[in-house]
Amino acid sequence: MSVDPAAELPFFYGSISRSDAEEQLKLAGMADGLFLLRQCLRNLGGYVLSIVWNLEFHHYPIEKQLNATFCITGGKPHCGPAELCEFYSKDPDGLVCTLRKPCLRSPDTPIRAGVFDSLRQNMLREYVKQTWNLEGDAMEQAIISQAPQLERLIATTAHEKMPWYHSKITRQEGERRLYSGAQPDGKFLVRDREVSGTFALSMMYGKTVYHYQILHDKSGKYSMPEGTKFDTVWQLVEYLKMKPDGLVTVLGEACVNSKAAAQTPVVPSGRRPRANGYTPPPGAIASASKPANPVPTDREVLPMDCTGFNPYHNPNDVKRFNIQRTQLLVDEVELGSGNFGCVRKGVLKTDSGQIDVAIKVLKSENEKLVKEEMMREAEIMHQLSNPFIVRMLGLCNAESLMLVMEMASAGPLNKFLSSKKDTVSVENIVNLMHQVSMGMKYLEERNFVHRDLAARNVLLVNQQFAKISDFGLSKALGADDNYYRARTAGKWPLKWYAPECITHRKFSSKSDVWSFGITMWEAFSFGGKPYKKMKGPDVTRFIETGNRMECPSGCPDRMYALMKECWTFKHEERPDFKKVEESMRTYHYSISSKAQPEGNAGAAEPIE
Ligand code: ADP
Ligand code: MG
Repeated sequence: MSVDPAAELPFFYGSISRSDAEEQLKLAGMADGLFLLRQCLRNLGGYVLSIVWNLEFHHYPIEKQLNATFCITGGKPHCGPAELCEFYSKDPDGLVCTLRKPCLRSPDTPIRAGVFDSLRQNMLREYVKQTWNLEGDAMEQAIISQAPQLERLIATTAHEKMPWYHSKITRQEGERRLYSGAQPDGKFLVRDREVSGTFALSMMYGKTVYHYQILHDKSGKYSMPEGTKFDTVWQLVEYLKMKPDGLVTVLGEACVNSKAAAQTPVVPSGRRPRANGYTPPPGAIASASKPANPVPTDREVLPMDCTGFNPYHNPNDVKRFNIQRTQLLVDEVELGSGNFGCVRKGVLKTDSGQIDVAIKVLKSENEKLVKEEMMREAEIMHQLSNPFIVRMLGLCNAESLMLVMEMASAGPLNKFLSSKKDTVSVENIVNLMHQVSMGMKYLEERNFVHRDLAARNVLLVNQQFAKISDFGLSKALGADDNYYRARTAGKWPLKWYAPECITHRKFSSKSDVWSFGITMWEAFSFGGKPYKKMKGPDVTRFIETGNRMECPSGCPDRMYALMKECWTFKHEERPDFKKVEESMRTYHYSISSKAQPEGNAGAAEPIE
């Protein structure tokens, strides 16, 4: 994810026009030296500095140089927009005056996204929508949880939807297509080269067709030789429409591939029946969704590939509270057990197919109290709908009371990690814990407290997809309450509990944040047991005297710092899940984005 290097500056407005900039400066009083920074609409990565002097406006374009420095034409280069503004606040160096007073963006004015930012965002949305048939909240969640992975995925396929993309045609055929019809300068097309995975750009200039090779470096970026590098061919093309970057001229109108234009992408009408965690055979996703836009098959299974990501997309699908016994096949296989009884594997038959399920079966001899507990658990789960929370599909009251849930077949996170120490990367764990934080943020927004968040209660659909489960202790808070007070202490998971839970029996989303910190510790120590052999009361003393668990070996510093924040003694000072999710997301994105591009080579010479 590229974040604008100016995003942190309080006087940066993003992609606003010259007249909008002037309007802002007028509103701020037109003092001499009043200034703001905005994104340049014409050159990618550049800015414009707008300054007031003598009741007049002065606009200075700042160009981003090939070596990634920034400078006002004729001025000194600076390593970033912040450094540049700092410099001109001390030295006018040719400007009409020094930058004296920043025209601050008001808190309710967001940085306006630029044409590239929104194109990229829209592309991502469109891709997720079409490939997985997701909409609304499920689509947003998919994008937030997997943005870096998705960007990598669309980088290789985004251009295929574009009218200027002519897939595999020869140089001669490219020329024939460009010469047919009008021949304005800049008319262009992109085609596959013989060498698979590489592209060529063919363009018209002075009634002659020029061909250029599009470079594709080891890190996967596309560029013209010595030019700016992009994640997608499509972004490169957009850029070349504005800057020649070594070409004879900028790109103009697209030479439209009439075949591709007639071929509208096929959107699947319903969810494809697929078992949880099932990896489709090569080409399967592509043929089921969009033949024109094949999804690479050599990639990891994303959460959205699993039916569990959005099982209620089709309104005729399962979501019903009462399940008939005849709809349910209960397997002998036990997935887990507890005081209440056991969790069994099973299959739920619905109008739209069969679904693998996990069934919590009450021991038949259990008394009324336990039955009521399970009803309460079901009542809570029934109100929740989030891809990172195990969904309840219904209750079935037959030979015993059964709570039917979607299946998370890879089981509890702690067990999974301890058995797969060698094959799970830290990046993978960060991704999973980010998903857990998204699920917890959802609970926090909805005013639910979980009260039993622990690695044993995070279940995996597969190695890349986690869901929070076990709502046996959970509570829905009243609209005006921000904590739940237990009347008596019970059989509690003390090692996961915040100090205020133990001393005051007070449970809130903030105490869930403490548990999230412990869960993170468990995850980054590959299913290790927190506080080793210490007993619950020892742990309480350990915490009260200011101690905390140490950083698990191999755990990134940033993640350990976040754990410690989660273990802030006073709940008032502890971050909430909104903040925790943001930190997890930032870190997840930062380590998932691709490596920096390598050096450039050669000048933009037309290829034969
Ligand atoms: P308890 O309250 O006894 O901890 P849980 O709801 O955590 O009950 O379930 C116990 C075990 O059953 C889990 O650790 C897990 O192994 C298995 N299990 C529970 N729900 C599911 C599910 N939806 N999919 C797969 N396994 C499950
Ligand atoms: Mg449990």
